[in-house]
Parts: sequence; structure tokens; C-alpha cells
Amino acid sequence: MKIRDHAGITDPGRKRRRNEDSFVMDPPLFVVADGMGGAQAGEVASRLAAAAFREYHEADDLDAERRVEAIIQEANRRIFERARDDTAVSGMGTTVTAALVHGDGVAIGHVGDSRAYLVRDSQLEQLTQDHSLVADLMRSGRLSPEEADTHPQRSVITRALGTDPEVDVDTFTVKARPDDVFLICSDGLTTMVGDEEILGLFRDGGNLDAVAKALVKAANRHGGDDNVTVVLFSVGDGEAALEETARMTVDGQGETSDLEDTLTGLEAPAAAREVPSSEATTQVGWEPIAPRPSKPPKKRGRRRLVAVVIALAFVALLLLVAFWGLANAHFVGAEPDGRVAVYQGLPYDVGGGVSLYRARYISTFHAAQLAREERVALFDHDLTSYDAARERLARFEDEGLP
Ligand code: CA
Repeated sequence: MKIRDHAGITDPGRKRRRNEDSFVMDPPLFVVADGMGGAQAGEVASRLAAAAFREYHEADDLDAERRVEAIIQEANRRIFERARDDTAVSGMGTTVTAALVHGDGVAIGHVGDSRAYLVRDSQLEQLTQDHSLVADLMRSGRLSPEEADTHPQRSVITRALGTDPEVDVDTFTVKARPDDVFLICSDGLTTMVGDEEILGLFRDGGNLDAVAKALVKAANRHGGDDNVTVVLFSVGDGEAALEETARMTVDGQGETSDLEDTLTGLEAPAAAREVPSSEATTQVGWEPIAPRPSKPPKKRGRRRLVAVVIALAFVALLLLVAFWGLANAHFVGAEPDGRVAVYQGLPYDVGGGVSLYRARYISTFHAAQLAREERVALFDHDLTSYDAARERLARFEDEGLP
């Protein structure tokens, strides 16, 4: 099987100042890495992963799957050691999803929530399983796919390169057929653009370069909340259509789409801290919704007036209960960088960047450092008191994590 065409593009999106994604397009090898961590740490992590792949060489006599796994382990070691030795990047990590074409097969190696897809016979098939909190919760039946799409912690991953000396890597091989197209992407695409729309952009056709650009544009059109990276390659019988097999590694700032990068700046703090209540109002989006003024009662209506007063009182009571709930309810969740946190409020995003909760306490340990059962138990989103939520975290903090 030959590689017919390939294309890669990365874009910071519309909300983030930095691009923490990296990709490698070095046929027969294709990689996407999505870094995370405060300040510049995420970029460092994803670039270290890309560098490890860049140094891959074919002379290696391991079979393809084991070769991909070996490179991922090597990348993990480098990131882990750098994070351990350099306090400026401690806690950094990255996802990695890699594909290596060999003979009739495509060997995939995968850690985190970047994804590999196969487009075949006008169908889009997700090849990788996310290592993420919401994927855990879905597998255990606690969350429907629809709930997962809007879950406050949908970006929290449970496996990453850089958090431990060894990493558990998913590897498998897909038997390729002529005209297969493979897509590797960061979650900045898949959290913004649904499967149907992704497939539609493939159907609209064009060469892979055009499809890649269209995918990034779609992510930005839907908000561009995150960095978005797309790597595509197609396979076929016979000779490679492209002579050019130049290596290409892009760390963050590849071609940008023509959409503006608006910044909100959201680097996370590094240490456990109480969030001062003065920050509360800036982070919380719960505005009271004023009840629609009802029409003034006319002559007919003392009875009507009474009904209106009762209705208003009921609405006021509901608002009171809602505010009481927001003020007193707490749940355990995780920050975008994976650190476990206690949130005040209710675990819902209501859209438009408005949430019904705010972080009140941010711990030092990461969701990825817990066993799966522990995560599922801890992130049940049951509402509880602040003290009780802190107590649930204390057990893990006492164990000396990280
Ligand atoms: Ca991302």
C-alpha cells in the first residue's frame, strides 16, 4: 500500500494565545500531540514528543506496532525527566496519537484524547478510544454521549505522556484498503465539530490539503475554543502519487487559518490554592433571570392579581432555592490541565462560555494519577458540602500524590 496524499495543519483556534499542539508528517509516519500544563509547559511537552518521533528511523527492526510503542515510551521518558528536573515545566504532559504505515497495515499508537479516524466507504470510524474522564464515565454508564459533549470536564484526560516514568500505550494495526483516508486530530477539532460534519467535509472532496483547511475552519466557525490540529493521509495501490516526501514537523504555529485569533489567556496556576472569593464573581456566570413582567391586571382581575402574585412568589422562591444551591453545592471535578479540584455550584455549562460553577480549591494531584475506579468514584458529580469534598481529596493528597 502506498501513501497517495497527505496534509497537515495546526491552528491556535480563536480563544487561546498559545498553540500547544504539535504534529509530525514524515511519511510513512504521522503524529499529533496535544500538550498541557501551565505557562509554556504544554508546548514543551508536545514538542518533546514530536522530536522523539522525528528521530525515528526505519533501520529499526522492531515490527511497526512495537516501534510506535517504543517511540512513545521514549517520548514519555524524556517529558517525564524534563518535568521532574525543571520546575518551570513540572506537571506538563501531552497526548500522542501516531500512525505508521507499513505494507498493508497502519500501526496506531495512542495515549490521551487526540484521535485517529478512518474514512472508508463514506463512513467515518473512530479508531482510538479516548483516555478521558468523560470516556470513563460513559463506559461505566454514568454519562450519555450527549451529556459528555457538554460535560464541564470533557477536556480532562486520564492518561498522558509525562506524568509517570512508564506510560500505558494502546497499540493496534488497521488493515488498509485502497482509497482509505486516515485522520489524526487533536480534541480542538472533535469538541467543536461533530462526526457528521467532519464526514461531510470529506464528501465535499478536494485534495487532502483542502479538506484539512476546511476542517480547521469548521472548528473555528463553531467557536475555536481550543488549538486544532489535523493530519490526513490517504493510501492506495501502486506507486505513491506524491514524489515529495519531505519531512514536516510543526510545533504549534503552522499555517494559521484566516480567522482571527482572539485571546482570553487562560494559563492555569501551578500550586494548590484556595480561590479567593473576590475572583468568584468574575468567574461565575449565574445572572438572575428577571421574571417577565406580567400584564397589569384589569378590572376583572382581583383573582387574576392573586394568581400573578402567587406565580411571582413561586418564581422568587425558585430563584432563592437556585441561589442557595449554587452557593452551597460543591462537587469534585478537574481543571482543564487535569488537576483535581473542588467546585462550588452545579456541574453544568449552559453554553456561550457560561458555567454554573467555579473552582474553589485546586489540588496538586492529577486525575491521571488515579486508578480508573477511583476516578469514576471521585468524579460522580454528587453534590456535597465543601468540607466533605475536601475530605474526599485529602485521602489522595495524604498518600503523597504526586
Ligand atoms: Ca486540546
